[in-house]
Amino acid sequence: MIERAGIGTVALVGAGPGDPRLITVRGRELLERADVIVYDRLASPRLLRAAKPGAELIYAGKSPEGNALDQEEISLLLVRLAQAGKSVVRLKGGDPSVFARVGEEMELLAANGIPYEIVPGITSALAAPIFAGIPVTYKNVASSFHVISGHEDPDSPETSHDWEAISRLSGTLVFLMGVSRLQAIASQLMHHGRSPQTPVALVRWGTRVEQETVSGTLADIADRVAAAGLKNPAVIIVGEVVALRDKIRWVEKRPLFGRRIVVTRSRSQASETSRLIEELGGEPYEYPVIETAWPDDLTPFDAALANLPQYDWLIFTSVNAVEMFFQRMRHNRVDIRSLASVRIAAVGQKTAQAVERYGLLVEVVGEEFIAEGLLDVLGDRIAPGQKVLFPRADIARRVLPDALRQAGCDVTEFDAYRTVAVADETQELVTMLRSKQIDVITFTSGSTVKNLFAALEGHDAADLLQGVVLAAIGPQTAKALQERGLQVDVMPDTYTIPALLAALTAHLNGE
Ligand code: SAH
Repeated sequence: MIERAGIGTVALVGAGPGDPRLITVRGRELLERADVIVYDRLASPRLLRAAKPGAELIYAGKSPEGNALDQEEISLLLVRLAQAGKSVVRLKGGDPSVFARVGEEMELLAANGIPYEIVPGITSALAAPIFAGIPVTYKNVASSFHVISGHEDPDSPETSHDWEAISRLSGTLVFLMGVSRLQAIASQLMHHGRSPQTPVALVRWGTRVEQETVSGTLADIADRVAAAGLKNPAVIIVGEVVALRDKIRWVEKRPLFGRRIVVTRSRSQASETSRLIEELGGEPYEYPVIETAWPDDLTPFDAALANLPQYDWLIFTSVNAVEMFFQRMRHNRVDIRSLASVRIAAVGQKTAQAVERYGLLVEVVGEEFIAEGLLDVLGDRIAPGQKVLFPRADIARRVLPDALRQAGCDVTEFDAYRTVAVADETQELVTMLRSKQIDVITFTSGSTVKNLFAALEGHDAADLLQGVVLAAIGPQTAKALQERGLQVDVMPDTYTIPALLAALTAHLNGE
C-alpha cells in the first residue's frame, strides 16, 4: 500500500472460510502489521492472534441476533481510523466481494480520499463444499456453478430471485445465508421443475473444527436439517455433485477430525505441537500456562559469558537454555567466536538442532530425553580437571552436574532462565470447557498440571473437566494429575510430543 504522511490506509482482507491457515499470504502480512483490526463473526478468532502486540481489535460482527455496529457506523469507523493515521485491516469472512458489502465500505473510503487495498479470500461457497468432499464442478456432472444469496426477502419484489431461471440452470447451485429459508428454497426449486430426488447437502462451519454436514434430497432436506438441529452459518449445495461426497470425503477421515485440543506448553514451544495437531486434522487451542523468563539475578550468567574461552565444554539440556544463552550473548555483545575452542554437548536431538541453527556443531548428543543419557555418552570424553559450563533452568534436576563433579570436572552452573506461571484469558477457557467445546487437554510436564489448576482456582475443576480427555506426556506428569484425583486417559511409551499425539489418536479411535 502507498502510504501518505499523516493519513492511514485501510485494507479489506478476506479471512478465508474459517481455518486460520486458509488466509492468503498477503492477508496474513497485513494482519501482522495492522494497528487496528476490525473483524466480524465469520473471521476466525485464531487469526486475531497474529495481530502485533498492542494492536487494537474491534468487533463489528453481525450476528443473526443483532448487530454490534451497523453498516454505516462501520464505514465511518474505518474513515475515522484512517484519518487518525492508523493502518487498518477490515477482516471479512471468506472473500470480501461475496455478499460482504465491500461496496458500501470502500465507496466511503474513496469519497474521503483514503487509500485502500482489497485482498481476496477463499470463499466459503467453494471451501465448505470441498471440505465436505463435494467439488462444485465435475466432468459430465456439472460444468458450472452458481452462488446465490438465500437471504431474500420474499415480500420484496425488487430483491427476489427469478426462481424459474435458477431452476433451469444445469450447474451446481450454492446458496449462502439460506439456512432459515431452506424449506422455501427447496420448494421453489421443485415447484419450477427440479426433481424432488435432486441431492442436497448443507455444510455448517466448513473448514473449522465444528464442521458438520447433513445431506438428503430436495424433498427431505429441510426435515433432516431440522432433525440434526443444524443452524447458521452453512452453505447449501444443490446438484448431482453432492453424491460424489461418498467417494471423495476426506476431512472426516483425519484421525483428530472435530477435536479441539488444548496445548498447555509455553507459547514459544507450543507451535510445533499445534502444527502436529493440525496435520492430524484437529484444532489446537493454545493455552500456555508456563513461560520462560530471565532469571532474577543475571550476574552469574553475565560472568560466564564474559569468560567463555576458558571453558572446555558447554552443555545444554533444553531448547530454552539454548535460546536464552544466545539471546543473552547477543545482548551483551559477546561474539560467537569466543566459543571457538569450546566443545558442545546437548541432551536430545531438539536441543542439538537448536544449537546448530546458530552455526555451531554439537559434538555429543545424548539420545535419551533425560540427563542420564548424556552422561553415558559423555563419560569417556570428558577428562578430570576440565572446565564445564552448564546453563540450566532454575528448577532443573541436578543429576548431570553432580555426576560431572564426581568425575573430577570443574562445573560452573547458572540459571539461564526460570519458568513462570501465566494464566491469560482464563475466562475464555472456562467458558469453552463449560460449553463442552474442549475435547482434550495435553500436559507436557508437572508444571503444566500445577499451573493449569492454579489458573482454574475458584472454579470447580473436576466438574469443568468432566468428559475431557486428559493426556500426559510421561509418568511424572501423569502423577501430578492423579494427585489431584484425576484419571489419566492417555500416556505414551516414549516421552515425546509425536508419541503423545499418536497415543491420543489411538485412544480417541478406540484402539
Ligand atoms: N464473504 C463470505 C460470505 C458472507 S455471507 C464468503 O465468501 O464466504 C455469510 C454466509 O456465508 C453464511 O450465512 C454462510 O452461508 C456462509 N459461510 C461463511 N462461512 C462459512 C463456513 N465456514 N461454513 C459454511 N458456510 C459459511
